[in-house]
Amino acid sequence: MARREGLPEPELPELVPLSINLDLTTACNYRCDHCIDWEILNAKEKFADETLRAQMTELAKRGLRSVILIGGGEPTLYPGFTAFVRHLKDLRLQVAVVSNGSRGDKLKEIAPYLDSGDWIRLSLDSGSNDVFQRMHKPSRESLTLDEICAWIPQIKRVNARFELGFSFIITWKGGTREDVKVVENIHEIELAARRARDSGFDYISYKPFLERAATGSEVMDPAKMEGRLAEVVARIKAGVDAARALERPGFVVRESTNLRMLMQNSWREYTRQPRVCHMQSLRQVLSPHGTFNCPAYRGVGYARVGALDLYKDAASAREGAEMTKALLDNFDASENCKDVTCLYNGTNWWLEQLIESDTPLDRIEVLSDRRDTFL
Ligand code: SF4
Repeated sequence: MARREGLPEPELPELVPLSINLDLTTACNYRCDHCIDWEILNAKEKFADETLRAQMTELAKRGLRSVILIGGGEPTLYPGFTAFVRHLKDLRLQVAVVSNGSRGDKLKEIAPYLDSGDWIRLSLDSGSNDVFQRMHKPSRESLTLDEICAWIPQIKRVNARFELGFSFIITWKGGTREDVKVVENIHEIELAARRARDSGFDYISYKPFLERAATGSEVMDPAKMEGRLAEVVARIKAGVDAARALERPGFVVRESTNLRMLMQNSWREYTRQPRVCHMQSLRQVLSPHGTFNCPAYRGVGYARVGALDLYKDAASAREGAEMTKALLDNFDASENCKDVTCLYNGTNWWLEQLIESDTPLDRIEVLSDRRDTFL
């Protein structure tokens, strides 16, 4: 606004992200054909545990509210995983874990420290042991979906206050990771919901398969589907409808925004971004490869906010704020993200309007605090 009115720019506030995605490790014990982070897995870069704890402490002191321990590797393989989760909870942060489910023992170990509002979600993407093994290729070849799901009642018995979710990325014939063809799983959408419900998960969530575009961003590319798009989408829709019929109290079916857009044939609307992505100041990704502006740009050079130890102390937090400001100026989302079905499209446009509007911020009504700070 100061720029628009030709006024001097105000002092840079020392803001840190409200929420982060934290890739604890790049190590993975699966070789999933549909893995979006394939190129950055099993790298030699590692976090130093003491520094990483200092980063979390500094961030929490400055306004961080939630941490999602997620991809680019399997978080439960991080040495000291349980102690690290305890550290996050001691800092009174909301914590979520996205895991491949191979280390149910580790998930059971952290269960006592989690609270309502926290969650664990397992990326399983299948309803049968056969499709699970063909899609994920676990390094322990005997690992089955049955074995993973058998941990759920055990974890629930330790602590049922947090949500446990079953995640299912829908893959279709024609989808590829580079020249590797992905295993199709549309026919297991309903079977997976039945398994999730009967194993004691609180929900199953469906999302479409994403691929890495030439720009480095993660994009949905239905044009590559084998067969007629409308027919494949109809099969997906029938599967999700059948899954929905399995809902009951304590078990729900969720669809991601981009899946809903795919089924409504309106996903292109979510690819028109404003020039400035405001979300990059609210949510960032910390990974052993460095700190990045968005989960869609893990490991992408021009989306880098800083090193892997960014935010470790006051000086580093200042550096992070300056780099974030530089990205707000220089990262052109309208161009870089023009093929991304961005989940934050609506939020970015809303913030854009807020900046342009003359309404004073204290006149905006706060509706409710849902106590969900994950972004
Ligand atoms: S516009 Fe969307 S995809 Fe692009 S950087 Fe922002 S949040 Fe990420």
